[in-house]
Amino acid sequence: MITCGNMGFIKKINRKDKKGSIKTYYYYYEYIKSGGKWVQKYVRQATPEEVAATHNEDKKDIAIITCANPDCDNQIKMPRSQKRRLYTTYPLRYNRFQMVYCSEACQQIHDMALRG
Ligand SMILES: [Zn+2]
Repeated sequence: MITCGNMGFIKKINRKDKKGSIKTYYYYYEYIKSGGKWVQKYVRQATPEEVAATHNEDKKDIAIITCANPDCDNQIKMPRSQKRRLYTTYPLRYNRFQMVYCSEACQQIHDMALRG
């Protein structure tokens, strides 16, 4: 995924404790580039405010977008809130739309095509 700005999101992880009961943990993750691919990286524990915010969102609300390279149909899954940031918050802030690619290779191919 090629984007600008803060690519952080909250990840919910269920873990069993010593007594065998399920506990839910919330972590703050960010997308980072590794070997030309965007991967999820653990950053820190989520703050109580962030945990509360995720409760307000539909947990199954995963948005699917396709790679911006016209010759690639790879799908990229992300939380709805992140898609909203990409298509509403960032365009309002930076006055341009952000293309999202499944890989750096796709970005480069499309970059070259756009230059003509
Ligand atoms: Zn692609």
